Amino acid sequence: MNIVSAKFLKTIVGPDPLFLDGQPQIAFIGRSNVGKSSTINALTKQKGLAIVSAAPGRTQGLNAFKVNDNRYLIDLPGYGFAKLSKTDRVWLHDLINWYLFNPGFNQKIIVQIIDANIGPTADDLELLQALEARGKNILVIANKIDKLKKSEYFKKCQKIKDLIGNHEVLFYSSKTGNGISQIIDKILC
Ligand code: GDP
Repeated sequence: MNIVSAKFLKTIVGPDPLFLDGQPQIAFIGRSNVGKSSTINALTKQKGLAIVSAAPGRTQGLNAFKVNDNRYLIDLPGYGFAKLSKTDRVWLHDLINWYLFNPGFNQKIIVQIIDANIGPTADDLELLQALEARGKNILVIANKIDKLKKSEYFKKCQKIKDLIGNHEVLFYSSKTGNGISQIIDKILC
């Protein structure tokens, strides 16, 4: 299977009829700057798809895309919002929690993107544990593997696997495209 079509639908900031039609949701979450937009653009083969929807001036929220006309891709705001005001940070934090932990939404899979070069941060692990505690179906993607030196590749990947625990980690680079087909197989299955 492949992603043959993807289009931006809307930015969601609260209860929305989109979530009521029962079509599967694939949610993407990660720290700001981890490469979430680059990954979504690479998966959908549309340069600028995720960026366009997050253009300056647009309300930050959950960006909803329709993929292959039969499922939703939900792009959540990046966490670790260092540059935002405290009010905006709290608002985005609440919005993310509302979407991820509202039992009514039932995402088919939650894709958490981490930085392979940095490894999972405290924020990444805290969110992963909260998702695990709610029994969510999680896929971890370690992006930016092109930044790993050959000599440290195995050691760094093993450390990430150890920290992530029971979940499968797919190693990936949105820069080179290395690992992309495994991700598509996982999220479309
Ligand atoms: P977002 O804030 O999580 O949406 O991150 P972006 O997709 O905007 O990417 C943040 C920065 O990381 C940009 O400068 C990207 O070019 C860079 N980046 C994203 N993916 C990769 C990757 O796989 N390898 C490398 N070297 N850089 C990447």
